[in-house]
Amino acid sequence: MESSSALLILVACVIVALLVFAAVKLMRAHLSELRDIGINEDVKAVTAAAEPEVVAEKSDAARTLLEAQEIIVVPGFGMGVSRAQFQLAALAASLAEMGKSVRFAIHPAAGRMPGHMNILLDEAEVPHTAVFDLEHINGRFSACDLALIVGANDVVNPAAREDVNCPNYGMPVLDTDKARQVLAIKRGQGNGYSSINNPLFTRDNVRMIYGDAREILQNLLDEVKSHQDSPAGT
Ligand code: NAP
Repeated sequence: MESSSALLILVACVIVALLVFAAVKLMRAHLSELRDIGINEDVKAVTAAAEPEVVAEKSDAARTLLEAQEIIVVPGFGMGVSRAQFQLAALAASLAEMGKSVRFAIHPAAGRMPGHMNILLDEAEVPHTAVFDLEHINGRFSACDLALIVGANDVVNPAAREDVNCPNYGMPVLDTDKARQVLAIKRGQGNGYSSINNPLFTRDNVRMIYGDAREILQNLLDEVKSHQDSPAGT
């Protein structure tokens, strides 16, 4: 009698142990599934955040220019590479003729030598009264409708202002990220002189126009001029 109850207790213990083992296994499987989903969501979020928004059509960019009232243009090294200053000056003049405020913001380190941008804009006969140094224009970005970046990268990198781990942290930059909208012209996702990632180009208020600056600005100029020359300016 004693040995049969001992056997019963042993069998009961084995069953309980098996049940506990099965429950732990199930829980582990569930937890690792949840963890995988979490990781995948994180990866998706990072991938999604890393893709810049590109303007769908060139005419979208022209429309954005035509709708803006206050525009600040930021030229950089890429404008010089492309020799796009003449198209940029003509575009700015056309927009100014329509009654818009069009100003140029010059970072002291833009391009590859001191005064590089000023020389190029001067060559294209941009009026000096439309050209402003960083300290005189930086406060205007938050009030402007549109920042138009032409081949600039390091000088508009908000990480230099926001990210203590950024190698350029502490270097003053042009605060284009504070503008209501930003259009950035560059050929692709190439870095600037510093080879530092620029988080500006994936911000919500920023759209990219990929291609050579001169060609893109010529297209924009043609679109803006055809609007200007149309009977009702429509
Ligand atoms: P940047 O950081 O060198 O960026 C220029 C951008 O222009 C590139 O990211 C490139 O992107 C784009 N680009 C090149 N060719 C182009 C083309 N044909 N059409 C359109 N885009 C083009 O220039 P930055 O913002 O002017 O900054 C200047 C940098 O140079 C700073 O890091 C500064 O410290 C350094 N620096 C300045 C001096 C000076 O005295 N000014 C001297 C030495 C060094 P894609 O490849 O994607 O097109």
